[in-house]
This record gives sequence, structure tokens and C-alpha cells, in this order.
Amino acid sequence: MRRIRLREAHRAGVREIVTASVASTDWDAALALSARSKNAQRAPIVYAALGLHPYAVGFEPRENDAQLAALEDRLAQGLRPVAIGECGLDFRKGSTMRLAPAEEQVRVLDAQLSIARAYDLPVILHCVRAHGRLFDMLAAHGQAPSILHAYSGSAEMAQRFATRGDYLSFAAPVMLNDAKRQHEAVRVTPEAALLIETDSPDQCPAHCPPPNRPSYLPQIAAAVASLRGCSVETIAAQSRANARRAYRIEEDADR
Ligand SMILES: [Zn+2]
Repeated sequence: MRRIRLREAHRAGVREIVTASVASTDWDAALALSARSKNAQRAPIVYAALGLHPYAVGFEPRENDAQLAALEDRLAQGLRPVAIGECGLDFRKGSTMRLAPAEEQVRVLDAQLSIARAYDLPVILHCVRAHGRLFDMLAAHGQAPSILHAYSGSAEMAQRFATRGDYLSFAAPVMLNDAKRQHEAVRVTPEAALLIETDSPDQCPAHCPPPNRPSYLPQIAAAVASLRGCSVETIAAQSRANARRAYRIEEDADR
């Protein structure tokens, strides 16, 4: 199934994918997918990111510590993911998800920022209703430029993150007509900080049959291009170049 979708993504023009994990139970699958995808002729190259998402942060600190220790073990054994992630903060209220208390999320993110810094890796950040707190944590850590995935904060915060060197990645919500706050953030994001993503299988475009899939990326590129008053090709080229810089992926003439 995954393979079919990768080929479908390739046909849609997607050449490289970063797949972020949610919990330690995903790490092997992400790494296996990455290991299998060495030839970009028929399917995109897949790069794996390993992390502990706020949804996977439990209420029991000892269990979280066990996952953090497992992450450090993997890296200590010489594994080199392209990033630590997803990790982050989700402070939304009234969610059907039972999110761990804010301070435990902060503690687990703090540990992952330290791991990322120790291994000189960028971080893929999930952030919902916590952008001020996240900014302060990144600044306090002296964190290297990070990727704010599916950015949902204000235009003002987008500029602050971009000034720090962070990347703002936009997903399907920018396609909604009434997403004024997101549209403003898309418009003010500097060219060198702009990324696009599908976040598949989540955040499916409203008019597409779920689950979300990588082949929907050109539609997000089109929405961002129209908001920024430039061509889809320009957005694709900027996002590609920025992603390669963010994840430190070497340029390969064959791709
Ligand atoms: Zn996320």
C-alpha cells in the first residue's frame, strides 16, 4: 500500500520525502522505509526522522524516560536520522486525545532538544497553541534552526521564528478560504524559511478523499503560490532547496 502511494507521489512530482515518527514503535518502520528507498527513478527517496510526539508522551514520566533513553541508544549506536521528530507541544484544550500535562510535554521536549543538540540534528516540531512557550525553549537551548511543521501560529510569531533561522512548513489548512491567520503567516514567511508538506496521513485537504497522501503536495504548493503571488514552480523550488538545507541533504545530480 505504502509502495503504491510512493509511486503515486513520484508521478505527482514528489522526489524526496521526510517521514517523521510519532513514538518508538514507529522508528523501525520509518527506518526500513528509508533503507528501501535508494533509487529515485520510480519512487521518492525517503528520509527518516525519529522522535516522541506530544501524542505519544504518556502520563507516567518513567515510561517517557524509557522512550527517551531508547532514542539516545539508537543515536549512540551510530544511527543518523535526518532529524529528531516529531516532538513538540500541544496545549489545545477539549481535545478527544488525552494529552499529557503541559509540564510533562515540556520536559520530554526539553530532553529531545538536548539530544538533537548533542548529535547536531535539526528538530521537527509539532506546536499547537504553544508557540510562545516553544520559542522561549528554542531560544533558551540555543537550538539550531528547526522545522515548525504544519505551522498554525500567528504571522508575528512566524517572523520571530524565521529571524531565529527556523523553517515554517505549511500544510493543507492553508487551502481553506477562511484560514486568514494561516494565510497571513504564509505571506510574511521569508523565502528562505518556507517549506510545504502534506503531513499525510493526517490533515487531508478538505476536498480530497482521506487518508491524506504525499501525492497531494502539488495542491498545497498551488495554494501557497497563490497566497504569495508566485508560480507553483517557484514554491516547489524554494521548498526543495530549503528542505535540503534544513535537513542537510546533499545535492545529487541524479535526482
Ligand atoms: Zn504534527
